[in-house]
Amino acid sequence: PRLIDDEEGGVLFYSTSALSSSSSGYGFASVEKQRQRLPVYKYRTAILYLVETHATAIIVGETGSGKTTQIPQFLKEAGWAEGGRIIACTQPRRLAVQSVASRVAEEMGVKLGEEVGYTIRFEDVTNTDLTRIKFLTDGVLLREMMDDPLLSKYSVIMVDEAHERSLSTDILLGLLKKIQRRRPELRLIISSATIEAKKISSFFSPSKRRQALQTEDHGPNAEPAILSVEGRGFNVEIFYVEDPVPDYLQAAVSTVLSIHDQEAMGDILMFLTGQDDIDAAVQLLSEESRNGRNQAGLIILPLYSGLPRADQDLVFSPTPRGKRKVVISTNIAETSLTLEGIVYVVDSGFSKQRFYNPITDIESLIVAPISKASARQRAGRAGRVRPGKCYRLYTEQYFLKEMSAEGIPEIQRSNLVSSVIQLKALGIDNILGFDWLASPSSEAMIRALEVLYSLGVLDSDAKLTSPDGFQVAEIPLDPMISKTILASNQYGCSEEVITIAALLSMQSIWISARGTEKELDEVKLRFAAAEGDHVTFLNVYKGFIQSNKSSKWCHKNFINYNAMKRALEVREQLRRIAQRLGIVLKSCEGDIQVVRKAITAGFFANACRLEPYSYNGTYKTVRTSQEVYIHPSSVLFRVNPKWVIYNSLVSTDRQYMRNVISIDPSWLREAAPHFYQHQQPKPIAH
Ligand code: ADP
Ligand code: MG
Repeated sequence: PRLIDDEEGGVLFYSTSALSSSSSGYGFASVEKQRQRLPVYKYRTAILYLVETHATAIIVGETGSGKTTQIPQFLKEAGWAEGGRIIACTQPRRLAVQSVASRVAEEMGVKLGEEVGYTIRFEDVTNTDLTRIKFLTDGVLLREMMDDPLLSKYSVIMVDEAHERSLSTDILLGLLKKIQRRRPELRLIISSATIEAKKISSFFSPSKRRQALQTEDHGPNAEPAILSVEGRGFNVEIFYVEDPVPDYLQAAVSTVLSIHDQEAMGDILMFLTGQDDIDAAVQLLSEESRNGRNQAGLIILPLYSGLPRADQDLVFSPTPRGKRKVVISTNIAETSLTLEGIVYVVDSGFSKQRFYNPITDIESLIVAPISKASARQRAGRAGRVRPGKCYRLYTEQYFLKEMSAEGIPEIQRSNLVSSVIQLKALGIDNILGFDWLASPSSEAMIRALEVLYSLGVLDSDAKLTSPDGFQVAEIPLDPMISKTILASNQYGCSEEVITIAALLSMQSIWISARGTEKELDEVKLRFAAAEGDHVTFLNVYKGFIQSNKSSKWCHKNFINYNAMKRALEVREQLRRIAQRLGIVLKSCEGDIQVVRKAITAGFFANACRLEPYSYNGTYKTVRTSQEVYIHPSSVLFRVNPKWVIYNSLVSTDRQYMRNVISIDPSWLREAAPHFYQHQQPKPIAH
């Protein structure tokens, strides 16, 4: 049957099979009633029994079944937080950490940051004496191990969203396995939305010999237990496009408008890839619905990490009667967050994924096709409250024949510099022999060791150097930025470099929207520095401080006020960390050359040279001779200085350098003599 058949050149769909079946309904009810209706509630006793008797429990259950919000509460009610102990629950995503923590605090009727708290990088909302349930990112828990290698304050650690196989989750699981041997009283819960339980279970399964030892001392069963929480959503009817769509953004917007026009009430969840295409879709949809016939009742809401708190809350607030909510989200809504009331899902078939090529040593975030497993998860979001529909903006043929069954674990598609330094800092010397859930490629590992060696973080025995290596590991930033901060101490510009580091850690400090690009470019000129984007950041920061941190000033200058406020907090924390490491906080008073030298000391591996006789601004990376270009958002776009250093690369049709600064090539030898040894800088190896 052809359910959507838009005569005005919309998208054509046909439906095939439906997804899954059965189970509970929802209405308005007290918090306690709501809790009892969640599928995990029926498993409360079973879960607590497994945690009591097994060192590791693996819990699999559909998104929305209550794993994240309920299990930590069950544990607390059962006494696992008594005697000053803490229950930890990790999430791969920062936004999910904040969201579930505030939900659990609300359910328990306590103030967030007291009994229930959370920690993400640069934001700690916990109380040392009061917090009993703590949500945190897996990356933050890894960092905590640097001060407390056995994570001794935690009685139970729940590693949530394990199916996502984020870089930090994989490393964390390897380390927790080690900790378990030293702390038999520690309990692990590994929870996941899909059935990847077997692999994790055999990973945690001890050898026969150790199992025999374990039974002698009457400790918990070392063999992991697996529990599957039943209770799936309602039927979801799947629709595919008849022909591939040329522009998924436009197709997604038309599909939403058709649903709104032709389908019964119920909220819509649209999966796009990132802030840029989400913002574009929000705008397109708002424009179209303003011109449209029946579009008055649409409430259009974006959802991505970095969204201000108030906007996040809107996404979770109930839809007013007679209105229809359209949430336009990254894959954060795939499994990490549950939105009630979604009946229609529009799936672009793409997400932003990290890819790393160890040969070229280039890591980039690219928009790539999702896996079948992700597509099923996305569709499942439509069946929470009643039977739903999922519109896939790709063909059935494509789903069946082209989509991979599962995604590749992030550890196998990432640059490993940060992971290697962390493992080293935790005393794991033999990185190649580490107990990996999935081994990264040896090329990637060697690349990471090479970069860390050239940064002076590792010595020739691949041990952390003292003090540089240990200090770089202490700073919760990419080692290249951390090294820049250390170098700024010698150059007398730590204040400036810390400001730059804080601003670079924001996704973007500019407000960009379709149609305002020209104004934004003009505004940027007010701050633009001839040296490049890093120095431009310093100008923006100075302007913000001089405006008395005014939101009006930000608005006028197309600057994201929330990002600036957060950057100030990050900056304060970095200053404290720097002081702890003995770095003298000092400003270079406008001598920008030393700032550029400090950046070169950390980022020399990202040096690029403009191709001689290049008319279109082609650069080549010095290390691997890759073709790269300056990103149009950079103040150096079209300026094309001869030598530059970039902060990161983004790939679309080409590899673009984001946040670029011009340098003098002689600084490269000064910064890394072992890396650039000739008159004309050339990499030594490979
Ligand atoms: P799981 O971890 O199994 O995916 P959750 O524990 O996250 O499930 O969610 C269980 C239920 O709690 C959801 O179905 C939803 O009703 C409710 N819930 C979770 N987070 C929020 C929130 N921030 N606001 C309102 N309700 C929420
Ligand atoms: Mg969850």
